[in-house]
Amino acid sequence: MLKQPIKLTHWPENLTRSYRAKGYWIDQPLTRGLRHQARVQPNLTAIICGSRSLSYGEVEQRFMALARRLTASGLGRGDTALVQLPNSAEFYITLLALLEAGIASVNALFAHKQNELNAYADQIEPSLLIVDRSHPLFRDNQYVESLKARSGRLDTVLFRSAETADQSLDDWMGPNVESLSGAGDDLPQPGPTDPDQVAFFQLSGGSTGTPKLVPRTHNDYDYSIRASAKICGLSPSTRFLCALPAPHNFLLSSPGALGVFHAGGTVVLAPNPDPQICFPIIARHKVTMAALVPSAVSMWLRAVEQAKADPTAQEQDLSSLKLVQVGGASFAESEARRVPKVLGCTLQQVFGMAEGLVNYTRLDDDPEIIFTTQGRPISDDDEVRVVDENGDDVLDGQTGMLATRGPYTFRGYFQSPDANANAFDDQGFYFSGDLVQRLPSGHLRVVGRVKDQINRGGEKIAAEEIETLLLRHPQVNQAALVAIDDLLLGEKSCAFIVAEGALRPAELRRHLIKLGVADYKLPDRVRFIDRMPLTAVGKTDKRALRKSLSDGFARSDAGKIPIPETL
Ligand code: AMP
Repeated sequence: MLKQPIKLTHWPENLTRSYRAKGYWIDQPLTRGLRHQARVQPNLTAIICGSRSLSYGEVEQRFMALARRLTASGLGRGDTALVQLPNSAEFYITLLALLEAGIASVNALFAHKQNELNAYADQIEPSLLIVDRSHPLFRDNQYVESLKARSGRLDTVLFRSAETADQSLDDWMGPNVESLSGAGDDLPQPGPTDPDQVAFFQLSGGSTGTPKLVPRTHNDYDYSIRASAKICGLSPSTRFLCALPAPHNFLLSSPGALGVFHAGGTVVLAPNPDPQICFPIIARHKVTMAALVPSAVSMWLRAVEQAKADPTAQEQDLSSLKLVQVGGASFAESEARRVPKVLGCTLQQVFGMAEGLVNYTRLDDDPEIIFTTQGRPISDDDEVRVVDENGDDVLDGQTGMLATRGPYTFRGYFQSPDANANAFDDQGFYFSGDLVQRLPSGHLRVVGRVKDQINRGGEKIAAEEIETLLLRHPQVNQAALVAIDDLLLGEKSCAFIVAEGALRPAELRRHLIKLGVADYKLPDRVRFIDRMPLTAVGKTDKRALRKSLSDGFARSDAGKIPIPETL
């Protein structure tokens, strides 16, 4: 049976013509960059992962082996995959294999649990699941069986660190295609990829009840990668540290690992941005560039300064580091100014989104621009509007909502007509929910947001998603999640609860854990109140709730003296 292409809201034809004519869309698959490097410099190192080092030739051999085996199993265009792998060489090899085979994947964060995985599975109905046995959900087969029951199409399951060869991701991507299949060169080659179709799904930070998916095409994503690699000056000598979750748009394409593969450099993996882990990796592998969220940069700054002040501390050799990118959340200007001084490298601010638009300060921008803005768009054809609540453009320097469209900004969430009706105007401009100011130079400053989201150190929490789950507790009558300022993470979350009878934060925590919520989404604090403050139109007044937090715990606008309780 011929499988249907995955549903996608396309760009209007006049724009696609122009994007092609201008050389943005080059009708190549997203594996293009890596395959090119495997041809011209097969022996150079593509990925360093712990003590393993894989050349471009090896990475290509492995992802092609996996792609061919998947094709032989009948999977291909029109199929989808749910993938959850930690920061590892296998993550990239799997992604490239699926791109080559035309299977559109959702790459869940390793921190995600059944709440998130179920939501993704329900949306894409995967035929293929690729996960890691070391993840608590996959230590046995119980959850896999429940996913199979949810998605009638799921029949191929591969595990990283599996016990048996037939289900072993490592074996499926093993260099010896013949030994496993017995079919050798008879194994079919994947069919040609359609670069206008969905390559994979990015994860939206979201502000609605269900995590939404962002379909990205080969053409649009590849353009953003090529252009980003150029802006960031990547070359074969780039050694890029990926210490944040690898599936994030920032780490994958801004310019991220795919940008590094395009340029022929090396991706060096770390499990997390802890300086104790990353500094020795930087020194050992002569890392030249790192992409970090603000909280991680602050940790690095502090670690370097502490080490300098402590004569007994081991010396940190960060001299290879030339560029630190900071993005994903607001970066304080005072911290930005410290980066070149303390880390001895150039700072680049990045303001991007899984939905598309990415802004960079340029490497040769005036330092004041680098310290005080979040950059300007990649492309001359990124149309950026800053508008007031009537949709009218505001003057440069004034605050307004960001609306954008362009050659790599998506045109619609996957199967989400309601969300799309809210997120787009009738001209196809996407409203990101960010409040920005634009300078005459085109640089943007992010000054706030209108979306109901908490940005916890770069990880986004959609308030509605958690509120809906809290409301499933039989004693919770009303729930509202709001952001609290946090010195390290920028923001943490606080749940305001109107409850029936006595309820303790620990009970709510157990409730959310039972529902399989990722840890970073668990409310950092819970406050019980008698009634929700309401706005004039009868909606929960989150501004009043936030104000009650900043006013301290002595008094609450919500009418009751609250007792702060930490989960
Ligand atoms: P994500 O799709 O998870 O990458 O999140 C995108 C959102 O993160 C943006 O819409 C902003 O709200 C926020 N964001 C990303 N970069 C920055 C930045 N440099 N400064 C402030 N907020 C940012």
